[in-house]
This record gives sequence, C-alpha cells and structure tokens, in this order.
Amino acid sequence: MSAADDKPEHDLGSLLSLEGKTAVVTGGSGGIGSVTVEHLLMAGAEVYCIDLEGKSAPGSAIFKACDFSDPEQIANTMEEIHDEVGGFDILVHCAGITRDRVLWKMSDEDWDAVLEVNLDSAFFLLRAAIPFFRERGDGRVVLISSINGERGKLGQANYAASKAGLIALGKTAARELGRFGVRVNCISPGLIRTRMVAELPEEVLEKARQEIVLGKEGDPKDVAHAVLFLCSDMSAHITGQVLRVDGGQWMA
Ligand code: NAP
Repeated sequence: MSAADDKPEHDLGSLLSLEGKTAVVTGGSGGIGSVTVEHLLMAGAEVYCIDLEGKSAPGSAIFKACDFSDPEQIANTMEEIHDEVGGFDILVHCAGITRDRVLWKMSDEDWDAVLEVNLDSAFFLLRAAIPFFRERGDGRVVLISSINGERGKLGQANYAASKAGLIALGKTAARELGRFGVRVNCISPGLIRTRMVAELPEEVLEKARQEIVLGKEGDPKDVAHAVLFLCSDMSAHITGQVLRVDGGQWMA
C-alpha cells in the first residue's frame, strides 16, 4: 500500500499537502531554491533553507548557514536540524555553481569547486539524512540536476559531470532506499530565468532560447511545481526518475 492509498482520490489538495512534514532545501536563497522554499511552505511543510552565510530565508522558513564545499559543515548542519526538530522527511538539493571554461583551460580548482558543491555535497547530505528517513519510515529526495548533465555542454565539463553524477547517485539511492519507503528523483531543468543564467553572454542565451520548443526560458516556479509534485503523495509510486523541466529544450 502506498502513502497515497490513505487519502481520498478526489481530494487533490490533500494529495499535494505537506502538512506535518519537515523539508530541507539547499541553495534555498537562490533563484530556483527560494521559489521552491515558498512552494513547500504553501503546501504546509516546515522548511529549513540552507545557503551561504549572509543570505536569508524566504517567508517563514528557518535559515541555516552552511558552505556545501565543507563536509564537516554539512554534517553539523544536519545534526543541528535533527536536534531541533527530530529529523526531516524531505530533502531538495538545489545548491549549485558553475565555473565555465573549455577543458583545456579548466584548472584543477575549477573542476574541484564545481564537483564539491554540486555533487560531493549531495553524497554527504544523503548519507547524513538516511538515518533520519529510516527513523520516520518516509523520505522524499529531489536532486536538481540539469539537461547539460544528460547531453554534455561546451565549456561545462565540470558542471555537466557533476550533474550527470547526481543522476547516477539519485538512481542508486532510489534502489538502495526504496525498501525503507524513501523515494529519490532528479529534476533536469533547461534554461531557467535566474541570476545563474543572467551572467551568461547574450549569444549563448539566444542559442539556448532557440532550442526551447515552447519558445521561452522557464521560470523558477516551473521547477518548484515539479519539486512539489515529486515531494508530495501525488508521486507516491515514482522513484529513480529524471523529470525534465525544460520546455522541450532537450528530447532524447
Ligand atoms: P542560483 O540562484 O545561483 O542558486 C544557487 C544557490 O546555491 C545560491 O543561493 C548560491 O549562493 C548557493 N550556493 C553556491 N555555492 C554554495 C555553497 N558552497 N554552499 C552553499 N550554497 C551555495 O542558481 P539557480 O539558477 O537558482 O540554480 C539552482 C540549481 O538549479 C543549481 O543546482 C543549478 O545548477 C540548477 N540548474 C539551473 C538552471 C538555470 O537555468 N538556472 C538550469 C539547470 C540547472 P550564491 O548566490 O552566493 O552563489
């Protein structure tokens, strides 16, 4: 019996409700992260927004500073949340950075920085969260990957490798954790209007826009809606999947 079986079929609101759940959103002050935090709050969850020192949390979310390039800070932050609220049910890993350069100009530092923040942190977060999920017999994890992790992208060897790694990590975690009632899925956004893409040269943006069959870049809320779906009982029988939110930018 899945969690959704407990709820009346006609009650869509209750299927989407996250009342009584606690969510942790990494990169929760960023473009996609902050809108995701707002949506999880709207669905009734208590939300921890984790981001770099000096940022803040949207709405009534609780802010915690953590640098995701530091495994010790990640472990301490997870412990703090456990001590405060006895664990959590939902983990959305949104923190991410780019350091774009063609391979032959990419430094060791460019490579390491991106792999650490985007991928290594996801491993540390998941490993720390698993005991909490097992304790609750429930867990919903969404890792924010990228279509460039699926198709590769000029100038983004580090970023694309980190995002492909998230997909492999997510599928493996889904296989290992299904028996404990934990679902793990990835979202692959295409071009989404945030500060991360605002920094790209106009010709790169225009080329990306031309790839999008719906004719325009996505909005952060397009990703937040998909996160909400994957964290709710609407997706009770979905795990180990990659959901593209890209207006048809990449179809393969
Ligand atoms: P964003 O606004 O830059 O959000 C990323 C957040 O992560 C920011 O708040 C950022 O802080 C934070 N962060 C960076 N380094 C960190 C660290 N070491 N420790 C903790 N937090 C850190 O970017 P976004 O566009 O919303 O992207 C969110 C996620 O979606 C990322 O994983 C990105 O790769 C993915 N994505 C985005 C797009 C897109 O088109 N926008 C497409 C595909 C995938 P700072 O602002 O201080 O750096």
